[in-house]
Amino acid sequence: MTFHCKNYDINKDKCKKLKGECVPGRKACVLEGRVAVSEELEEKIRKLDNRLSRKTEIG
Ligand code: SF4
Repeated sequence: MTFHCKNYDINKDKCKKLKGECVPGRKACVLEGRVAVSEELEEKIRKLDNRLSRKTEIG
């Protein structure tokens, strides 16, 4: 299955909506809670969430 998201900027390889890395299913992604993600992707989302929450605590 392939998926094209209108928020994905192919030239910058970034999510325009979230102004960062495209990780399908991440927090605030249009797919959040709507798709089942692989364990690998789940781990990537968890690491991204940790990175973002650390940034919030610092900044
Ligand atoms: S993170 Fe989600 S909303 Fe953003 S481009 Fe990727 S699939 Fe689309």
